[in-house]
Amino acid sequence: MAPVETTQYDYIVLGGGSGGSGSARRAAGWYGAKTLIIESGRSGGTCVNVGCVPKKMTWNFASINEMLEAGKHYGYDIPENIKFDYTHFKNSRDAVIKRLNGAYENNWSREGIDLVHGRAKFVDPKTIEVALVDGSGTARYTAPHILLATGGRPSIPDIPGAEHGITSDGFFEMEELPPKVAVVGAGYIAVELAGVTNAANVETHMFVRGQTFLRKFDPMVQQTMTDRYEATGVKLHRGHTGFKEIKLIRDGKGKDKLIKLIGNDGSEMEVNELLWAIGRLPEVEDLHLDVPGVKLSHGGFVVVDEYQNTSVEGVYALGDVTGQAELTPVAIAAGRQLGNRLFGPAQFKSAKLSYENIPTVVFSHPEVGCIGLTEPEARQHYGDDKIKIYHTKFTAMFYHVMPQEEKTKNPTEMKIICAGPQEKIVGLHILGLGVGEMLQGFGVAVKMGATKQDFDSCVAIHPTSAEELVTMR
Ligand SMILES: Cc1cc2nc3c(=O)[nH]c(=O)nc-3n(C[C@H](O)[C@H](O)[C@H](O)COP(=O)(O)OP(=O)(O)OC[C@H]3O[C@@H](n4cnc5c(N)ncnc54)[C@H](O)[C@@H]3O)c2cc1C
Repeated sequence: MAPVETTQYDYIVLGGGSGGSGSARRAAGWYGAKTLIIESGRSGGTCVNVGCVPKKMTWNFASINEMLEAGKHYGYDIPENIKFDYTHFKNSRDAVIKRLNGAYENNWSREGIDLVHGRAKFVDPKTIEVALVDGSGTARYTAPHILLATGGRPSIPDIPGAEHGITSDGFFEMEELPPKVAVVGAGYIAVELAGVTNAANVETHMFVRGQTFLRKFDPMVQQTMTDRYEATGVKLHRGHTGFKEIKLIRDGKGKDKLIKLIGNDGSEMEVNELLWAIGRLPEVEDLHLDVPGVKLSHGGFVVVDEYQNTSVEGVYALGDVTGQAELTPVAIAAGRQLGNRLFGPAQFKSAKLSYENIPTVVFSHPEVGCIGLTEPEARQHYGDDKIKIYHTKFTAMFYHVMPQEEKTKNPTEMKIICAGPQEKIVGLHILGLGVGEMLQGFGVAVKMGATKQDFDSCVAIHPTSAEELVTMR
């Protein structure tokens, strides 16, 4: 039998998503490493195709509907029930994503990165075999450095009929909005997508196990946002005990689809769509990681050290497949640092990403922004007597022209958590209009080790909501 031809690279990157792209571009574009990206799906990965980008665009779409409502209080003669064409929006969004797919591939090509479309697996510790998507067979590649950046995928529960629901991936395929939707889950993806449907006048039911959602966030965020969602129309099913069966009554799009949810408590409800947002799993099954012997955690994530090394020399992992702070900029930053370390000059030989103080925003309605520790984490870490909390809750000026009921429904709330005699800021949690844009700058300050005194010494910008952060007593 003729030997299988294997092409040699310096660096093979499995997955052309945020982390894989970031790392490959640093390795090839900055340092000239001969680099190959293997991507089985659409270039750009989760963020571009079924994550951040379509999510934020849909958040913008839904926010317009909220603005139309707000406009009435400003004296605009806005008719009731203004119609929208969701299919038009979806097509425009798809076109943006298609352009981004092309932009990713153009950047790779400009930087000399080879791209192969196919599903990758290990056939020996240094050799990757790819089942090519064009059906032309398989190809083999080898490199001293191989990066696992294969990301994750949404999970669905193991109950009869669960497949009749959709996940966030399916949410972005919807061509029509259903009139009534059930969202199961309490994490940020559930909260963001339920926020979108509710703002777009879809009857939205959220099923959460506890009494609040966003359980990993500061209690202030959990409480205020859960109450706010309920006040603005989301039908919240708190303390839900789960479903025992899902039945498809009628297949179709939008209002034509009908699903029956049968709860463990015997309750039944019919909805037009069911969205599972119960968590994400690492994408590792097809990689044959047992061949090199890469160690996985109990949850199936690839175990890495602080330098993104796996348990196997020459094999690295980063991004969602490792379960570390599952965010696009984190994957990109980790990828770039790894590129620096592997292929950069001597001063980068210990380059790594600091996972401390990563700012994050939930694109809920309104947005939530956080950096650093939650109050319970800070109390546990420093001790109650070393912690000082600054907290404020107010109505942003945007709502001043509205009746009290609207003001109550739309609070802005901020918490600064300080530690030690210097009052170093170790946690910052904000929710309200525009906080997503607000957090980035404050994130720089927190990352630099700002104290409360540093915040206070910055002159306020008036009138803004952000000024409260530098004037809190
Ligand atoms: C609905 C949603 C909203 C989100 N919103 C935000 C947000 O607002 N902000 C934010 O920062 N993050 C957000 N995220 C998270 C963000 O998308 C991820 O953290 C990020 O994409 C992770 O990048 P990655 O490189 O690890 O993996 P991915 O981007 O998932 O890329 C992995 C790639 O590997 C490919 N692949 C998998 N297996 C193989 C294989 N065997 N062979 C070849 N290729 C393979 C996949 O096709 C995929 O393209 C969101 C995620 C979701 C699902």
